[in-house]
Amino acid sequence: MRVAGSRYRRGMLPGLERVLIDRSAIAERVGDLGRRIARDLEAELARTGSRDAGSQVVIVGVLTGSLVFLADLVRELPLKLSMELITVSSYPGKTTVSRGVTVHEDIPHQLGGKHVLVVDDILDSGRTLSVIRDRIAAKAPASMRICVLLRKDCERAVEVDVDYVGFDIPDEFVVGYGLDYDGFYRNNPDIAILQTDTL
Ligand code: 5GP
Ligand code: MG
Repeated sequence: MRVAGSRYRRGMLPGLERVLIDRSAIAERVGDLGRRIARDLEAELARTGSRDAGSQVVIVGVLTGSLVFLADLVRELPLKLSMELITVSSYPGKTTVSRGVTVHEDIPHQLGGKHVLVVDDILDSGRTLSVIRDRIAAKAPASMRICVLLRKDCERAVEVDVDYVGFDIPDEFVVGYGLDYDGFYRNNPDIAILQTDTL
């Protein structure tokens, strides 16, 4: 079978201004993150000496923005692990300004005593991840790490220490690779900046 490659290889979805991080740079960085995370979790499991070590690792994906990143990242983790998903929204509809955080699903109960890795798309004001971090901490996991694909260079409303960052980016509204504007552009394979008249 001939592999045709992505349909978008030579272009971008309408309404996008320019590519900020292209798909090959993303893939390379996701591979790096996976190797670092796997190494750290293996060391943590060895240190805590659990017998069925692998069943102690839970990945908590923060939907919807982390969907594509999460799918790629977990396939770079050669560990026995389980996955939980929580849905959070902070940018309802046609807005690029956070309006507070709504957590749509309860944090799973079975995180007590587990090694938790939270995976989110982007750290911006810090409000989302601080809420999630505190709610997970209340479940008393054995350890908690946070991984974000992107971290914006901006003033944060709440400081959140993240353990793994894919890319530090300027304070611009980005879409693609799971991130949306008004529900669209999640399927754009590169991370891109919107045209100003799209906003
Ligand atoms: P925070 O609570 O840190 O301000 O924002 C976190 C959430 O807002 C992210 O998980 C993401 O869903 C959304 N967000 C923040 N910045 C951007 C951005 O530049 N583009 C998109 N599409 N979403 C963003
Ligand atoms: Mg998000």
